[in-house]
Amino acid sequence: MTDAMHEARDAAERLRQEIRNFYGRVMPDDLRAKSRRHQVLDKSDYVHWMRLLHEQGWAIGHWPKEWGGQAWTLLERFAFEDQLARLGCPWIIPFGVKYVGPVIYTFGSPAQKARFLPPIATTAEFWAQGYSEPGAGSDLAALRTEAIRHGDHYVVNGQKVWTTYAQWADWLFCLVKTTRDEPAQRSISFLLIDMRSPGVTVKPIATMDGFHHLNEVWLEDVRVPAENLVGEEGAGWGYAKFLLKNERTAGAIVGMAWHALERLKDLARESGRASVRLDARLGELELCLMALEEAAYQAVESMMLGTDHGAEASLIKLRGTELYQHIAEATIDTLGVAGVAYDTAALHAGGLPPLGPDDAGGILKDHLYNRASTIFGGASEVQRNIVAKTVLGL
Ligand SMILES: Cc1cc2nc3c(=O)[nH]c(=O)nc-3n(C[C@H](O)[C@H](O)[C@H](O)COP(=O)(O)OP(=O)(O)OC[C@H]3O[C@@H](n4cnc5c(N)ncnc54)[C@H](O)[C@@H]3O)c2cc1C
Repeated sequence: MTDAMHEARDAAERLRQEIRNFYGRVMPDDLRAKSRRHQVLDKSDYVHWMRLLHEQGWAIGHWPKEWGGQAWTLLERFAFEDQLARLGCPWIIPFGVKYVGPVIYTFGSPAQKARFLPPIATTAEFWAQGYSEPGAGSDLAALRTEAIRHGDHYVVNGQKVWTTYAQWADWLFCLVKTTRDEPAQRSISFLLIDMRSPGVTVKPIATMDGFHHLNEVWLEDVRVPAENLVGEEGAGWGYAKFLLKNERTAGAIVGMAWHALERLKDLARESGRASVRLDARLGELELCLMALEEAAYQAVESMMLGTDHGAEASLIKLRGTELYQHIAEATIDTLGVAGVAYDTAALHAGGLPPLGPDDAGGILKDHLYNRASTIFGGASEVQRNIVAKTVLGL
């Protein structure tokens, strides 16, 4: 192993230790309790959480120093997401710090960097991702939302769908077609849309966990200043793919799976349901998780060395989300009747599930929501296609 890799591993270990100390000493009791019970977090909880991370210098630790980051290595970035997830911390809202921030500091104008990066870093402004449309999810090239230039602004018409937390968002980064005649690679542009603009309508979509995470966003004659175009007109396909690479780092999935497996082991002990069959199921899940973790480390290190084959993130996303779902299913089985008694009121502050341990309702909520984890961030079938093409040469 090279000296640089040794140093990177040491730095990542130090970061893990700092995060454990932070969790023990700084993490507020209410956030810790809510996340331990998998309760519903509202916008103010998430903003509070992101600001706490920012105060530690971590929310944008992966950004370059020039823009206030710490220029973390990929190993530190992985350690950060993984360690927080292992501890069962809330989700790191990715739309600002992880997705659009890097697009802006890489491709944006000096004015866009000055205007948008500081409030992204502090989560003073909340962002949503306007990629998917009806008929254009896996196949983003099929998107139809149009932005036609009229003098110093664009007029945007179209519909986005599955837009996570659009109901909270101040801004939407949006893929739009700026010409009808060219193929996607030359017709898609990357536009920043103020959600308060006239003509923007957000309609909720209920998910089967009974909560409001997702939305349709309708855009009708929305006037967007031309200065909100990122980079060049028609070059948005490249920026969109750059962003998807960041989306698919999937750093947290290994840690989330470990956290869930540890809880499952406790439940198996507490519930008195221990059996040879359950032990065998637990053993198999743990072995798969150990293999996934090793693969994730190898993937991160090969990306750092530039020896990756380009499909590592897809492999980890695919195996990680499927394994996480298997662990959740085993947990629901182990909960017995408490695993089917679902009451959304139990998931707000002070609420308790009708049966079983105090986190039973939250475990069920997460299980229901995470059925979608093999769809968002690139559906499993699409990841399999990437692996087949890149690794197997099919
Ligand atoms: C909970 C959740 C949150 C989301 N949040 C956001 C968000 O904030 N912003 C945003 O822009 N989008 C978001 N999405 C949308 C998400 O990115 C899309 O759902 C995803 O890309 C799949 O697209 P689709 O739903 O149109 O399904 P489709 O692409 O129509 O796929 C339908 C089925 O066909 C399969 N399929 C598609 N193409 C192929 C192929 N080439 N080969 C084999 N099988 C194929 C898929 O795997 C899937 O099983 C979210 C989705 C969910 C479920």
